[in-house]
Amino acid sequence: MTDTLQDRWEAVRARIAAACAKAGRSESDVLLLAVTKVFPATVIEEAYALGMREFGENYVQEFEGKRPLLPELPGARFHLIGHLQSNKSKKAAELFDVVQTVDSAKLARRLDEGGKPMEVMIEVKLSEEDAKHGCDPAELPALVEAIRSCANLRLTGLMTMPPWDEDAEKSRPYFARLRELAAAHGLPRLSMGMSNDLEVAIQEGSTIVRVGTALFGRRKKP
Ligand SMILES: *Cc1c(COP(=O)(O)O)cnc(C)c1O
Repeated sequence: MTDTLQDRWEAVRARIAAACAKAGRSESDVLLLAVTKVFPATVIEEAYALGMREFGENYVQEFEGKRPLLPELPGARFHLIGHLQSNKSKKAAELFDVVQTVDSAKLARRLDEGGKPMEVMIEVKLSEEDAKHGCDPAELPALVEAIRSCANLRLTGLMTMPPWDEDAEKSRPYFARLRELAAAHGLPRLSMGMSNDLEVAIQEGSTIVRVGTALFGRRKKP
């Protein structure tokens, strides 16, 4: 790749702007979350220096290793977007500002017990794929209620990840369903859409697109 991170960042922002214009939405309503999993701490620093402020990481253990290598980054916020096991919840509460992947009342209680005020979102499982984590839509009302009773957690929205498909249109029904579920519970934030399908996600109401490959290039298999 000969293009720079700056070029790729501009290209992604142009895609977001075009999708917002097409959907009649304001660009400021869509947050670009830079997904830095697998990349070293220096990549986060480089992205921060360009002006990126919201970062997504998938693995508690990986970020635990990278965090001490980073300088103070005023205004930066780190989101956990990978599955969280409840035995890692204490660590996650220390490291992250937002946990997007709460999927059980037990996990919510564990995060709440950490005592740190946090923003959380619920990961919803909308496909039958076995490998996917997330709350079953049928159990969503109870989980919303459980989280709302946690004093330190502020529930702001829902997150989902459709089965990967080269054809972005295949993601549309999942995104539409997530939007309906969020509306039913009065939740304003929708974390949906990645490098491949962010335009479709924005058309369906996404407020957070999680972008890795289009910014940082292909990830090597760990
Ligand atoms: C890796 C990952 C992304 C970024 O995917 P790209 O296709 O590289 O943009 C977004 N969301 C989650 C949950 C991920 O694990």
